[in-house]
Amino acid sequence: MSLHAAERPTRILVDLDRIAGNLRAIRAHAGVPVMAIVKANAYGHGLVPVARHLQAVGVEHLGVAFPEEGVALRRAGITVPILVLGGIFGPQVAQYLAHDLQVTVSSLDKLRQVEAAAQALGRRATVHLKVDTGMERIGVHAWTAGPFIEAAVASRWIDLAGIYSHLACSDEPDSPMTALQLERFDEACAHFGRIGVPVPPRHIANSGGVLHFPQARLDMVRPGILLYGVLPGPESRPTVAVAPALSLVSRVVYFKVVEAGHSVSYGGTWTPAADTRVVTVPIGYGDGYPRALSSRGSVLVRGREYPIVGRVCMDQFMVDIGRDSAWNEDEVVLIGRQGDSELGVEQVAAAAGMIPYEVLVGLNDRIPRVHRGAYPDAE
Ligand SMILES: *Cc1c(COP(=O)(O)O)cnc(C)c1O
Repeated sequence: MSLHAAERPTRILVDLDRIAGNLRAIRAHAGVPVMAIVKANAYGHGLVPVARHLQAVGVEHLGVAFPEEGVALRRAGITVPILVLGGIFGPQVAQYLAHDLQVTVSSLDKLRQVEAAAQALGRRATVHLKVDTGMERIGVHAWTAGPFIEAAVASRWIDLAGIYSHLACSDEPDSPMTALQLERFDEACAHFGRIGVPVPPRHIANSGGVLHFPQARLDMVRPGILLYGVLPGPESRPTVAVAPALSLVSRVVYFKVVEAGHSVSYGGTWTPAADTRVVTVPIGYGDGYPRALSSRGSVLVRGREYPIVGRVCMDQFMVDIGRDSAWNEDEVVLIGRQGDSELGVEQVAAAAGMIPYEVLVGLNDRIPRVHRGAYPDAE
């Protein structure tokens, strides 16, 4: 990374080839099509560049949380099927139809709203039915799915493209919850057989499902975090070989010696017992770098790991390098590799008392993202 005048030295580097490699590994492992989940700015990796790259390497399906994310993808020229995973509000449905976004229908009431909007526009809606098998979030309870399925099948304004559910505990390989959820989902899907209608594509596996539960693969899988090379939880088993795609880097903006007894940063919460060398790094919680890393997190400088000292400020924080040396403009790695050292997002999240998902999606648009990969038009 060369430093250009007027450019912020803090960057998120995203290796798109890594994401493509992870997609291939997941597809080979699961043996079914993949709906790549790109909600929340592609887990902080950059919604449009990631989706363009995935489309270029042949992803079958994309999933987002909210319709505006889908609209942004359509405006960027993404043509693969996009399912919006979130619950709908009636007035939004016209927007789904205008942008060819697949709708999650999670109750009989919502089904009627979709029908009304479709009829008003004279345009059929493409729908995935949502069955709740244990999240208690959105979706019709599995044991009452029969009439819901029949209403969807009977509707002339609805094309059924799928039926799905979501796993609550799949990041824990030993949790009995997943088997129970699969059983409930199977039972709901069996209703199609009872009424003599072919079952649409069934999907339930998030990253944990892909990793730990072969019987959850069904007709399609919906990995999010795994696509970015990160495991969904501390108990997860790396049954698919993936590699992290995101690095967060900055540079030393200031060097000084802090004398013994002089406290560092807001609140004076950290004070060295002996004179020590401290560098300042120009990124803070205003960029989404967690303030919870105050005196808990660490960074890499010159291939070694050093502690963050004192509170993380909005735009800067301080690092104790002890008796070692560092210079202005030296690279600082906050997430990723430097030389032989690596600081994974898992480690950063653990230090902050967070989960890797939160750290990744929290990194905001104040940080420029630089995408590298085989498709240069993916910027
Ligand atoms: C976010 C989400 C996923 C992906 O979850 P990961 O744990 O990141 O794999 C899959 N399905 C639904 C419905 C989701 O909301």
